[in-house]
Amino acid sequence: MRILVKAPAKINLALDVLHKRTDGYHEVKMVMTTIDLADRVELELLDTDQIKISSHNRFVPDDNRNLAYQAAVLIKNKYKISKGVSISITKSIPVAAGLAGGSSDAAATLRGLNTLWNLGLSLDELAQIGAEIGSDVSFCVYGGTALATGRGEIIQPIDPPPHCWVVLAKPSIGVSTADVYGQLNLSSIKHPDVDQMVDAIRNQDYQGICKEMGNVLEEVTLKNYPEVAQIKEQMKRFGADAVLMSGSGPTVFGLIQHDSRMQRVYNGLRGFCDQVFAVRLVGERNHLD
Ligand code: ATP
Repeated sequence: MRILVKAPAKINLALDVLHKRTDGYHEVKMVMTTIDLADRVELELLDTDQIKISSHNRFVPDDNRNLAYQAAVLIKNKYKISKGVSISITKSIPVAAGLAGGSSDAAATLRGLNTLWNLGLSLDELAQIGAEIGSDVSFCVYGGTALATGRGEIIQPIDPPPHCWVVLAKPSIGVSTADVYGQLNLSSIKHPDVDQMVDAIRNQDYQGICKEMGNVLEEVTLKNYPEVAQIKEQMKRFGADAVLMSGSGPTVFGLIQHDSRMQRVYNGLRGFCDQVFAVRLVGERNHLD
């Protein structure tokens, strides 16, 4: 038996860091939403007691460092499953980009194995397991749009934002999330108003969403990589309604309502970046089906 699971990327419409906790994690408050750019995770039941993983992408580990592999091991041990699985990942989400590609592959693996191994677990249970793998995995189990707090694993769903285009541009650098958090100076950051962002989404207020977009991690990544700031400037110049870096970067995204303007921003950015995408902001939970 073989099943195919979709693993969509996320963007952060707002990302705030409140303080460093005694357990070493940062307390965050962020709004995440799913976009129509996804990896494909294929799971095939094995009768042997083995977990195999392949991705054919030189930036993605084909061993126990892969988050999808870790997800399979965790759920297999927890529920004492004697069967195995072969996991094959076709990447479309850029790696180490601030788009939660690895976390989404892990979440898709949990959802898929729940079906393949007939575990009957709820999404809440899968999200709890996901949190043991990484802070973004819980959100990726549900997809959709949510306010994420704690270290990112406490998820409160919110209505999807109004549909629009998202143009993404990733410069050819990879950013380590841990390094960015490590360099963050909490005493000097300008905090976005995440509650106002949630209100703007609830009110379907597109202009309000554009106005409230903010990410405290930009301060670190833009300083380390001036090309990220340049891409932000280009996107604004070509006419995006609002522009922000996603997660710890380096991917920059622009929200755009009008088709013709989306084309202009997309074509304009392709001259500057190898990896440019124009996708829809979906933001609904059922998009995973
Ligand atoms: P986040 O936004 O959650 O911080 P990210 O988008 O910045 O994540 P990923 O694409 O998840 O970053 O990759 C981060 C690192 O994780 C990579 O350098 C890679 O070595 C490792 N990794 C493990 N599993 C995967 C996977 N399935 N896909 C991509 N990278 C993976």
